Amino acid sequence: MEISEKVHCLIIGSGPAGYTAAIYASRANLKPVLYQGIQPGGQLTITTEVENYPGYKDGVQGPDMMVDFEHQAKRMGADIRYGIATKVDFSEQPYKVEIDEEKWIAADAVIISTGASAKWLGIESEQRLNGFGVSACAVCDGFFFRNKEVAIVGAGDTAAEEALYLSKLCTTVHMFIRRDAMRASKVMQERVLNAPNIKVYWNTDTDEILGDKHVTAVRIKNNKTNETQEITISGFFVAIGHQPNSDIFKGWIDMDEAGYILTQPGTSKTNIEGVFAAGDVQDKYYRQAVTAAGSGCMAALDAERYLGAKGLH
Ligand code: NDP
Repeated sequence: MEISEKVHCLIIGSGPAGYTAAIYASRANLKPVLYQGIQPGGQLTITTEVENYPGYKDGVQGPDMMVDFEHQAKRMGADIRYGIATKVDFSEQPYKVEIDEEKWIAADAVIISTGASAKWLGIESEQRLNGFGVSACAVCDGFFFRNKEVAIVGAGDTAAEEALYLSKLCTTVHMFIRRDAMRASKVMQERVLNAPNIKVYWNTDTDEILGDKHVTAVRIKNNKTNETQEITISGFFVAIGHQPNSDIFKGWIDMDEAGYILTQPGTSKTNIEGVFAAGDVQDKYYRQAVTAAGSGCMAALDAERYLGAKGLH
């Protein structure tokens, strides 16, 4: 393997965790290099209003907030680059990370902040019609279905939030819930159930999304009665949770059965000395911008202490 560059601190991923790690690592003079990954800015770039991030007293749009994070990291001196980490070799120091399947970078310390991505149902029509009426982001794509009927599957806070968002644009939102209860918080459930144009279907599975070139209808099945039904729709939204973006670290980094990276409690340390994890890739409980940012700070401080103790800084 040919190493094209050696860096001190390499950060993989550009959500609140990665950018915060970059801010702290820059201020500690670790000269961090950050690769932004497939979705620069992470999941917040596909949300709208963020009202619970302290400091933005009037709220902020998710994409704008991530631009602020990026600018702050750059102002502190972080080297922010486009590029995707495609492979790693953590067998020995310095650790190696392949970028865009074309070059290898060596690093004394690595911070993994690759986040999580939307889950899909896994039915054939969902893939075939993806981008042609099927979407995993109401906030990104809801606009295209103004004054039309749409459906959404899921029953967590994300599904509730997205159903409410769609209800303001679309004539009717059909919401399919696989059990007889919603997982979403009580306040969100109440908002959904009180929205006049959200129609909730309990104990309901999506059998198939119908349409030749684009979505025209959906066939659902009541999993108690086995009764099927076709509903005419133009858009189908999937909001059934997320999975951590940790595939490239399998075999190196310890993870739970769902692929969330395991960190030593109260730290960002992984099973490999000098490799740290922050944000949603290691957090299936809180998953908030502010907790991700906090854990990014922890990872930079842990990296700084590690490099100092090793005499590398
Ligand atoms: P969750 O994991 O909380 O919910 C996923 C939902 O999708 C569940 O209702 C689940 O059903 C359903 N589901 C999963 N797989 C399928 C499937 N194959 N078919 C049909 N339904 C399926 O994910 P969320 O993204 O909603 O939320 C993640 C975290 O983020 C949560 O902690 C949430 O509270 C938080 N959040 C908070 C917000 C806020 O406070 N404003 C906004 C958005 C998220 P089942 O219940 O049967 O398992």
